[in-house]
Amino acid sequence: MSTNENSRVSRRGFMKAAGLGAASSALGALTISSAQAQEDLWDEEFDVVVAGSGGAALAGAIGALHGGASVVILEKAAFIGGTTGKSGGGSWVPNNKWMKSEFGQQDDKETFLRYVAKVSFPELYNDKSPTFGMTDHHWAQLNAFWDNAAPVFEKLDEVGALPAKVFTSWDGKPAPDYHGQIAENGQILGRQLAVNVDGKNGSGADMIDFMSIYAEDNGAEIRTENRVVKIVREEGGRVVGVHVETADGVNRIRAKKGVIFGTGGFTHNPHMRTQFLRTPVLGGCAVPTNEGDLINMSAELGVKLGNLNEAWNQQVILEQVLEFSSVPSGVFFLGGDSSIAVNKFGKRMYDEKYVYPERTRSHQVYDQWTGEYPNLYQIFIFDDGAREFGGYEIPRVGADLPKHVITGNTLEELAENIQARFDSLSERIGTYKLDDAFLDNLKETITRYNGFAETGVDTDFHRGEAPIDAYFHYITVDKGNKNPYIAAISDTGPYYAILLGAGTLDTKGGPVFDTNGQVLDVKDNPIPGFYVAGNASASPSGKSYLGGGGTLGLGITFGYLAGQHAASQEA
Ligand SMILES: Cc1cc2nc3c(=O)[nH]c(=O)nc-3n(C[C@H](O)[C@H](O)[C@H](O)COP(=O)(O)OP(=O)(O)OC[C@H]3O[C@@H](n4cnc5c(N)ncnc54)[C@H](O)[C@@H]3O)c2cc1C
Repeated sequence: MSTNENSRVSRRGFMKAAGLGAASSALGALTISSAQAQEDLWDEEFDVVVAGSGGAALAGAIGALHGGASVVILEKAAFIGGTTGKSGGGSWVPNNKWMKSEFGQQDDKETFLRYVAKVSFPELYNDKSPTFGMTDHHWAQLNAFWDNAAPVFEKLDEVGALPAKVFTSWDGKPAPDYHGQIAENGQILGRQLAVNVDGKNGSGADMIDFMSIYAEDNGAEIRTENRVVKIVREEGGRVVGVHVETADGVNRIRAKKGVIFGTGGFTHNPHMRTQFLRTPVLGGCAVPTNEGDLINMSAELGVKLGNLNEAWNQQVILEQVLEFSSVPSGVFFLGGDSSIAVNKFGKRMYDEKYVYPERTRSHQVYDQWTGEYPNLYQIFIFDDGAREFGGYEIPRVGADLPKHVITGNTLEELAENIQARFDSLSERIGTYKLDDAFLDNLKETITRYNGFAETGVDTDFHRGEAPIDAYFHYITVDKGNKNPYIAAISDTGPYYAILLGAGTLDTKGGPVFDTNGQVLDVKDNPIPGFYVAGNASASPSGKSYLGGGGTLGLGITFGYLAGQHAASQEA
């Protein structure tokens, strides 16, 4: 479908016309005159150019293909799939047909909007307001998400681009949302979809296989080791193409209808991490190529940026993230029943069974009295009882202990060894001292926690009470406890500890976009030809992680809408 060979033009001619001395691979933008944009000055041309090859980008490509466009997909890494390829492949899709047909669940638009308003923009929530307090922009986006998410996923399923089913747990049950205990949630089950692989939950790798094969079978060209480095626009603002860094030099590709960016977040750009995020984040699970390229390219285009201070938060094992900024996976859940997480004061901070994004937020708490982040690095403590069933970072009895597990035969010894481990990391994390009261407080914390084991009720943090706690924490050893998620921590050692830090699955700030996926300028006008989706964009979810699949549900929906809108434009 590409017209590349026929329209391949003299690179020297282009550079002359564009006033370039040499092809530059520095990230940025280039403005050319309207006359130049119309001239035959490009190496190749396609209707729609897609940057990235994760879920959002592939959905953009498929949306464009469905609109009859010729499509090229340009991936910076040596392999396709991005962070999506590492993921669980879940997608949060309200009002999907499978939740009704498989589990008889009825979704409801008002309940959905109230829930999203409450958890995504808690500081604005107003149950009397017609938008529940959301800005007009977010109101429009989230209405568009409700209206389009199910139809997009149903279409992808119907054509074989992404077969879907309700995500089910080990006992066959559909998932609650991440904040199902909140009244506004409505306790609706089954919004989380999985890739349907022979009736079983598939993975993110399956998602990429299905979507990329479908895109190629339908005419898209996929190129790896092709990094988009410049956005080309014509005077007046329309985006008309890109420059791409390849092994053979810079390739200039004209996009007759639009360019869609699904280039992921900026987790692996240390400057952006420290400048945009609120707390020190040392890295995360995103693929290493997610370095915020789009933000650098957009800077010269007067693009409106948003949500830069938010991420899909994820706890990480501190020593792993110090060794590899891009870790294979994070601490999705904290396992065990006789297990607690404490801060440098030896105090618990949250329901340890709650979901990762919210636990990670606790790292951001700042204490004005001591002038520090008391929860910045946390300590997950467990005993041999918890190791009986292991899981979620707890090595089962008999398994080798990874080197990041600290041990102590007594709580005194454990505390000493924890401090020694922090000291050994000081070149990377600075001085991190357990408070003088750590040991005494830890003993008190354990005594109090063991009291909760007796009553079965955690009056501090409601451990085990949220619907999502039970959904992800099955217990394989029945100890007959009143609350299966709480067991007394042993009076005698050995004890174990793992140091935790704040990380991300990836960030979720970037260009703000409209309901067509079109990037807005600083005056809120859509920039023709310029689209964004997924973690490269300012997520409509604001602060929240709405439910399992919350990142891909949004990314794929708006990616597909962007592709369709781009394809519908005049060439
Ligand atoms: C272990 C794990 C499990 C997860 N499970 C889930 C889950 O079940 N459900 C869910 O919703 N989320 C999940 N997530 C999060 C989810 O993977 C990401 O949020 C999501 O995949 C992001 O998709 P994306 O398309 O926006 O970006 P990505 O999938 O990260 O794709 C971005 C791509 O753009 C490429 N790129 C970057 N810059 C350029 C450039 N200049 N030119 C060309 N290409 C470029 C990158 O190399 C990358 O391939 C999980 C994450 C992890 C790590």
